[in-house]
Amino acid sequence: PKTAYVRTKPHLNIGTMGHVDHGKTTLTAAITKVLAERGAGTFVPFDRIDRAPEEAARGITINIAHVEYETDTRHYAHVDMPGHADYVKNMVTGAAQLDGAILVVSALDGIMPQTAEHVLLARQVGVDHIVVALNKADAGDEELTDLVELEVRELLTAHGYGGDAVPVVRVSGLKALEGDPRWTASVEALLDAVDTYVPMPERYLDAPFLLPVENVLTITGRGTVVTGAVERGTVRVGDRVEVLGASVETVVTGLETFGKPMEEAQAGDNVALLLRGVARDTVRRGHVVAAPGSVVPARRFSAQVYVLSAREGGRTTPVSTGYRPQFYIRTADVVGDVDLGEAAVARPGDTVTMTVELGRDVPLEPGLGFAVREGGRTVGAGTVTAVH
Ligand code: GDP
Ligand code: MG
Repeated sequence: PKTAYVRTKPHLNIGTMGHVDHGKTTLTAAITKVLAERGAGTFVPFDRIDRAPEEAARGITINIAHVEYETDTRHYAHVDMPGHADYVKNMVTGAAQLDGAILVVSALDGIMPQTAEHVLLARQVGVDHIVVALNKADAGDEELTDLVELEVRELLTAHGYGGDAVPVVRVSGLKALEGDPRWTASVEALLDAVDTYVPMPERYLDAPFLLPVENVLTITGRGTVVTGAVERGTVRVGDRVEVLGASVETVVTGLETFGKPMEEAQAGDNVALLLRGVARDTVRRGHVVAAPGSVVPARRFSAQVYVLSAREGGRTTPVSTGYRPQFYIRTADVVGDVDLGEAAVARPGDTVTMTVELGRDVPLEPGLGFAVREGGRTVGAGTVTAVH
């Protein structure tokens, strides 16, 4: 039998972000190694994070690796993503719901374009706390590293993060991974900074249960399982739930987190829900599992949208009323008609107000973030301001 998940410490979701090759994956592996040596988790080697085998095996198109570990005071789920496009997609759509982030900046290279873009993204999706890992400090020159630190603090201040107060820790993921005591201590210092600087978020535990479906799988002999992060509320084995999108009401007959059975899942947890009597092909990624009657889907809403500049991988030409892109809302992908009102036109780099009419009903509410995509790339990031 599997060991049950025991909730002994508060749970937070964090992740590494930063420019490609600055050492995010190496640092993620190093964190798991340092903590595994303390007996507080399992070492996850670089190759397993970078290829995210669990996700690939299930045929998920989104590239995101989850690892879990514990410090003395907290339990963390940590995400790492391979490429810049994965960050844009996962962060803006909320697939990576981060309570805090570790911004990895190479002390050798300093701020690069994706460093700045990830800070901007973090701000837009409501990540309020960032801790900086000045990585590759083993290979960096001290004075140059001081300059990089100044530059990073300025960047954070420019995006409203209060750069003077942000912890900046000089680390070497690579040397810590090799077991070098000095750099192992640097990773411990980084984790202490995360423990103390990133506060426990308000979890909306009392709100009705809601989980956006990320993936659906079949467990032979047991039935259909949906996976995802609990957005709000709690759910227990035996609870009735509604699957919005599938128009099904059913009962949760099993609950797991990271392969361990649990009695109750709460907001912020990454879980798998076993649903009674639901056929595999009736539930899809993009559907929402919620407490019955707690959400009313809609298709018309107003939003504030940032149109990505060409430099950020966005469009090179403006959009106008009548534009019909895809909207990624939670885990759903829905076409929508854009009405820009009086402005009528939005240029790359602009932040605009728009009204959207979706092709089908989805659960919507003010404050909900989404991505605007076209031809397979993200061209905008927005927040719902009103539902009509
Ligand atoms: P990512 O793209 O941000 O995930 O970066 P990776 O973790 O894949 O690392 C990119 C390269 O930087 C690899 O060749 C690593 O070995 C190297 N690297 C990562 N961390 C360090 C470090 O702390 N010191 C040094 N010298 N090299 C590092
Ligand atoms: Mg990587």
